[in-house]
Amino acid sequence: MSRIPLIAGNWKMYKTGPEAVETALDLEKLCLDITDVEVMIAPTYLSLPLVATALRDSNIKVGVQNLYFEEQGAFTGEVSAQMTKAAGAEYAIIGHSERRQYFGETDLSVSKKIKAAIQSNLKPVLCIGETEAQRDEQKTFSILDKQVSNGLKGLSFDELENLVLAYEPVWAIGTGKTASVDQVDEVHQYLRSLLEKLFSKDFSGKTRILYGGSVNPDNVKELMGIKDVDGALVGGASLDAEKFINIIKYRDL
Ligand code: PEP
Repeated sequence: MSRIPLIAGNWKMYKTGPEAVETALDLEKLCLDITDVEVMIAPTYLSLPLVATALRDSNIKVGVQNLYFEEQGAFTGEVSAQMTKAAGAEYAIIGHSERRQYFGETDLSVSKKIKAAIQSNLKPVLCIGETEAQRDEQKTFSILDKQVSNGLKGLSFDELENLVLAYEPVWAIGTGKTASVDQVDEVHQYLRSLLEKLFSKDFSGKTRILYGGSVNPDNVKELMGIKDVDGALVGGASLDAEKFINIIKYRDL
């Protein structure tokens, strides 16, 4: 089954509006001939409408890094799925480990956010991953099972048709430590069969599973060569257009 690779850049809390637009436009020029890979960048909420407007005629998609699950109301400081959609988002990254670690994100809030994203026609990118301690305690698969099952609870495969899963071992994010090919291969195969068990073979075969965690131009080709890896979620190395394009053009490396 063919799954077009998705290379997504998570810009985290970096770049002012003008800086984000400048990088986005640099990237747009570098991506003009890209047809075999889908490219997405997720700037901050503030930069989102500026970047989405700047890229409106390009082949680069825009996403958000988070959202709140209520539609509207007295929720000071929060932004709804609908608002991010109206600002130009097509994708929504949900459950990133930094949100789980620093902002109290739980599988329950993740599942509510996935539902809110789907209701607003956003494509959810569900982030999952184990900590170093959990891996050392041989809990990797049970943690991933729980994060996926609870995060997608109550949703049908029709509702999840645009779901993207991103496996991001917490110990590999922003640390320069990348999971080994064997580790990534083992987990991605596990996730593929988990999706089959939870939904169907057809659904599992269609759903893209990204790897994230210190992806850079030096390791991307090897990672993308793994059978069940359908793309990458890239943090640090996506902030610079020249560096990010080398990851996007991993086939040419
Ligand atoms: C991320 O933010 O999802 C990520 C994988 O970051 P980095 O590439 O910097 O490890």
